[in-house]
Order: sequence, then C-alpha cells, then structure tokens
Amino acid sequence: VAAERRAASEVGEFKMKISVLKQEDNEITFEIEGAHPSFLNALRRTSMYEVPALAIEDVYYTKNSSVLYDEIVAHRLGLIPLKTDLKSYNLPSECSCKGKLCAKCSVKGSLKAKGPATVYAEDMKFKDPTVKAIYPKMIITKLLEGQEIELEFVAVLGKGMEHTKWSGCHVYYRGTPAFDTKNADLDKAFENIPANVAKRTGKAIEITDYSKWLPAYEQALEKNGVKITNSEENFILTIESWGQVAPEKILNEAVSILQQKLKEVKLK
Ligand SMILES: [Zn+2]
Repeated sequence: VAAERRAASEVGEFKMKISVLKQEDNEITFEIEGAHPSFLNALRRTSMYEVPALAIEDVYYTKNSSVLYDEIVAHRLGLIPLKTDLKSYNLPSECSCKGKLCAKCSVKGSLKAKGPATVYAEDMKFKDPTVKAIYPKMIITKLLEGQEIELEFVAVLGKGMEHTKWSGCHVYYRGTPAFDTKNADLDKAFENIPANVAKRTGKAIEITDYSKWLPAYEQALEKNGVKITNSEENFILTIESWGQVAPEKILNEAVSILQQKLKEVKLK
C-alpha cells in the first residue's frame, strides 16, 4: 500500500519481463519483473471488473410452481457461469442496436421441466448452441410431483463492476519474496512445507511452485528465524477464471481495455 501511494512522478517507464510459471485450463500464474504495484493493481481490477462475461439478465415466467419464488430462481439463473465468446457478442451499450438487445448483444433461451425432477443448469436451452453452462450439474431447483417450471430468459454481456455475476475471474498478486536465512533453523522451518512447493539448497530457499505457495509457509519460515521481504518491482500474478473466458484471454482483454483508457486520457 505504501508503494502505491508513491508520487506519480516516481513512476517512470517500465521495461517489463513476463514469464508464465504455470498454466492450466482455468488458472495461469505469471512472474512479472520490472513493474510497479499500481500497474499490477490496475491490471487486477480491470481483469475482474471490466472484462465482460455473459450472464442471464431477464427472466420471463410462464409457469413456476416450484417451492422457490420467481425472484430466487431468476437470481440463481443469473449466477450460473456461461461459456462466453467475446468475439461473437457486444456489450449492449456498445452495440449497433443501441442496447435494444439484438442477436449481436444478447442470447435468448428457455427452461422447461416437470416434477418429480431436479432441474440442473444443463437443462437450459440456448438459441446459440455455443453458449452453455460451464458447470452442467449446478442445481437450479427441485420439483416435486405435480410441480412445474417453464420460463424464457435473455443473457447479455456485462461487466463485473456492475454486478458480480459478470465478473469472470479472481486475480491476485504479491511481491516476489526474498529470504534472509542467516539466523534461521531451516530444518525445523521445512517440517511443514511440502517438497513440491519449495526446496532448499544449503541456506538458500527456492520456491518451485508459486501457485501453491501459501502464507502459512511464510509463517513457518518466519517462526524459525527467516526474514522475508517482498519485492516492489517483481511480482507473482495469478488469474483464476470461473470458466467463462480463458485466463490468458482475460489478460489480453484487460491489457487492451487499459490501453484504450490510457489513449482516452492522452487525447483529452
Ligand atoms: Zn445489439
């Protein structure tokens, strides 16, 4: 936080080096060298709150005799993560239809079920077959004998800053830790640190998997005499996607949004 309060004049030009430490379907961890905490924070906030995702916004009921009220069912539908192709859809506010919800900025669908049954996210039918629930077995409601649900819905692109249902990821970063082990008892400290996360060679500690490195391990080190300092120039950044948009696409999109914003600042 102290670093973020530094005067803007101190924030010069950066030559960053970015390397991927770990990449999985929905998670990516980078090492970023030669940056500044304020840049990392801007990237984090843009990724979480400004990169769009698709979510259900309007629900029209024909029947609902389930035990859940219409509003509760609508809320549950809204929170179901949907596979999002950012190239195929516009934000309604930026669409040529001017927010009237055409096929370029919205996708319609329906849900119909009769009890006894458990209604799952996979029971939703979308007009665009590429749009679907990422977790098919999320339960929407349960229906007893004689109960029915029948509704239509509209999903649109939105931003996490408006509602968290449109936030496609969780992003976090920290300064790369450096270890001073001069007066440390490393044998004891490493009793609680798994071998696949960090290793030691003599008195030197090397983290081998940053995505699994936890504060508890740092506490174990500090308890046994290791002094830890976190860099304010080099960072470990993790993007965890909920599945709507792949984590590397989230990063690319966030960078373009940031660039666009900076351009606007310059022009004015
Ligand atoms: Zn439109």
